[in-house]
Parts: sequence; structure tokens; C-alpha cells
Amino acid sequence: MRLRHIPGAEQKIFESGFVISGPEVYRGRWAEVYGNDRPIRLEIGMGKGKFLMELAKRNPQINYLGVELYSSVLLRAVCKQEEERLPNVRFLCTDALKLAEILADGETERIYLNFSDPWPKDRHAKRRLTSPRFLGIYDRILAPDGAVEFKTDNRALFEYSLESLPAAGWEIIFSTFDLYRSGLTDGNVMTEYEEKFAAEGKPICKLVAVRPKKE
Ligand code: SAM
Repeated sequence: MRLRHIPGAEQKIFESGFVISGPEVYRGRWAEVYGNDRPIRLEIGMGKGKFLMELAKRNPQINYLGVELYSSVLLRAVCKQEEERLPNVRFLCTDALKLAEILADGETERIYLNFSDPWPKDRHAKRRLTSPRFLGIYDRILAPDGAVEFKTDNRALFEYSLESLPAAGWEIIFSTFDLYRSGLTDGNVMTEYEEKFAAEGKPICKLVAVRPKKE
């Protein structure tokens, strides 16, 4: 994603009631933020928020938390949400590395990773959102029967993830190298990146991973 500095982005985000600042105080108490104890689903690296907000409209019985590192990117989602005011949407402007300080063990039931930055160089592998240190965080904050859903156009990152997840003890219960030709697109919500890549005819890879049930 091309980033540019947007003057006032931090201020606008700080002022929005939909962006939770100082989120650590809500660890284990996110029901207070939403005003109900419905399940919470996370999108990490949500970009401009199209996917998250569409899901939130379709599923008002679920709470959605969008996580984005850059305020200049998050700003677009915040502006949309200030207009639409979906009651089940909140945002965090933070690095996913901090999520275990923000959510208690098992406090979320699903994590979506969509078109995550591929970080192709080996020396940057630990920045990939499906690398072991991130998987360790997801393992903590996800409920025991929770799942990670991952979509990408980047075959190398997908192949890396097909190895990194099982190596960290996850079970891949669904995977395809070509979501649109698999015919399994019922209920699929497109992200901004997905719309662009699918229009170019690029295959979209998808996997769903869970932790094996403990006996
Ligand atoms: N998910 C959107 C989509 O599919 O249209 C945006 C994809 S964009 C390529 C990846 C996004 O992930 C960027 O906005 C980037 O800032 C964000 N990101 C990357 N690393 C992150 C991290 N460690 N924590 C939170 N967000 C991150």
C-alpha cells in the first residue's frame, strides 16, 4: 500500500469515538466497548475498511474490530464509519504485535488476514503476519474453537503460510490456490485489494486454519 502523510490524520483518529485509544485498559472487558457481549472478530491490516464494514452490515449480531498500523490508511475507514455509524464496528491504530496486551486470552473468535504485506525478503520474514511470532499471538487471543482466515494474491506468501501454520501447530481445514475457480465464493466479501486483483484475473488464494481440539 502506498503511504502518504495526511496532515491531521492522527488528530481526526484521536477524536473519533470509533477508534479506541489506550485499548489495553479494555483487555478482557471489550464487551463494555460494544455495550454487549456478542462475539468479536478481528481484521488485521484492514486498510480502508471495506471488508470489515461490509461484514459488519451483514452480521449485526457480531462485533468487529479493525486493526491497522498506519493512521493515514485508517483515516479512510474512520471517515466512512463516522458517516455510517455501524454500532458493531471499532478500530485500533496499532501494530498487531501488541494484540495480546489488548485482548485477553480467547477474547476473539475469528481473525481475518487479507492481502497482508508479503515481505518477500528472507530477512523480513518475521514481519509477515503468518510468521511464528504473530501466530503465537493469535493462538493466545483466539477462543479455542476460533479460526484464522487468510486471503492473498501472493503465491509465495501463501506457500510460506501453508508451511508456517502447521509448523506452529495449526490445522489447515480449507485451502485453495484459486478461490474464484473453486466455486466456494458463497458469502465471500471482497476487500479493496481483492477487487483490484480479481478484476486483473489474478488467482486469489485462501486458507482457513484452526488449532486441533485438545483431548
Ligand atoms: N486488507 C486490505 C485489503 O485487502 O484491501 C489492505 C491490504 S494492505 C496490502 C496491508 C495492510 O496491512 C496495510 O494497510 C498495512 O498498513 C497493514 N499492516 C501491515 N502490517 C501490519 C501490522 N503489523 N499490524 C497492523 N496492520 C498492519
